[in-house]
Amino acid sequence: MKFGGTSVGSAGRILDVVGIVKSQLCNEPIVVVSALGGVTDSLINIGNESASGKDVSLMLEQVIDRHYEMVNRLNLDKKIIAKEVEQLSRLVGEIFLLGEATPRNIDKLMSFGERMSARIVAACMRSFGLHAQAYDAYDLGMTTTPNFGDADVLPETYQNIREGLANKKEIPVITGFIGKSRNGDITTLGRGGSDYTASIIGAAVGAREIQIWTDVNGIMTADPKIVKTARSVDEVSYKEAAELAMLGAKVLHPKTILPAVENNIPVRILNTFNPRHRGTLVLNSISTGSRVTSITYKKHILAISISKSGKLDEKGFLKKVLETFDRRGVPVDLISNSKIGVSVTIDEKYGTVELMDDLKKVGKVEVKSNRARVSLVGNDLLYMPDILETMYSSLKRIRIEMVSSSISEKNTSIVIEEKYADSAVKRLHTTFFSR
Ligand code: ADP
Ligand code: ASP
Ligand code: MG
Repeated sequence: MKFGGTSVGSAGRILDVVGIVKSQLCNEPIVVVSALGGVTDSLINIGNESASGKDVSLMLEQVIDRHYEMVNRLNLDKKIIAKEVEQLSRLVGEIFLLGEATPRNIDKLMSFGERMSARIVAACMRSFGLHAQAYDAYDLGMTTTPNFGDADVLPETYQNIREGLANKKEIPVITGFIGKSRNGDITTLGRGGSDYTASIIGAAVGAREIQIWTDVNGIMTADPKIVKTARSVDEVSYKEAAELAMLGAKVLHPKTILPAVENNIPVRILNTFNPRHRGTLVLNSISTGSRVTSITYKKHILAISISKSGKLDEKGFLKKVLETFDRRGVPVDLISNSKIGVSVTIDEKYGTVELMDDLKKVGKVEVKSNRARVSLVGNDLLYMPDILETMYSSLKRIRIEMVSSSISEKNTSIVIEEKYADSAVKRLHTTFFSR
């Protein structure tokens, strides 16, 4: 049972979490928690500001006070997070003196969010008579690559965790999002990574079900923050869920599905604010036939066109282009190829001067910034013959600059100017879902 940031964001919410866990004691739950909502962002901010020589004592005090206030409201003992608070303050001081926010230090800094929330949630459970114990995931054997900020879990983790949790009598309340490298450095699994922690632990122990408790009624037909009329989808396949997550639907971290697939464990996405709602069940195979399941989007992308500067029949052009991105470690999102050249989209954070200089050696480069990708995700989309026409006609005056369909037939994506993204998602939702 993984509870996200908003689900543990206030004293009231934590009481709800305790109630939800209590109602499932017969299933021998293992609990995974995120940092209190907003805390990870604040910690990153504190790290960066402190490294640039600013006085962050007020910001730090606010984060610490928020935790102590919660401890107070829940009538818990301040001692449960005292050690973490002290270590956190010391680390911020060290970053200030160092004058640099290294990825290693930022990961260590972020880890305090989950380390404090796990202790608070476990103590709150104990105060209601549940036998619960907080664990830092790495103490149970969550071992990762040393890629700070986006670490991957190493194979030994599964057995470590299985053994680490064997014979534990108390309900484990485990930190999401964090692990340690083989060198012993604290690492993080990428923003939103607590979902991934939950599925790794679920796979390690052979759980009957992985529950992702969040702030909406499961996977919905679109992000409800944009489309007020979005509705929840009862069942989706692993493939649809993975596609949605990879294409930007924040409700699931993209790596969550794989450990579940490999062990055929159902994933259920549920709402802490509305625990009786059935949410969404993610299963191996479901028979829906051809359908659009959800509309998702990703902003802050660059559309880059590289056209041949020499002969049109130049050999190996596409290969050269892709190798250039690869050498710089830039993941290519959409790609569309033609005789004249190739267009790709990438996350704007990768659009460095160095990358552009490299691309210019391959061909003529044109970059469009402030673009968004909007995707229809579903099943057997290529069997819906008029899907593109329908998309074009519902978007009317919004210029579609690129179109791409996945060979998995699970998505059809378009690239448009970012300022039209919300409106495009709304219009497509009306077209495909209001019946
Ligand atoms: P948590 O803190 O519980 O991990 P997140 O904020 O990471 O929660 O993810 C939940 C959010 O995902 C929702 O509040 C919603 O705005 C967003 N979201 C985006 N796309 C979808 C979708 N298709 N279905 C449901 N939620 C979505
Ligand atoms: N606290 C982390 C984040 O904000 C991980 C998570 O919430 O899943 O990214
Ligand atoms: Mg999340």
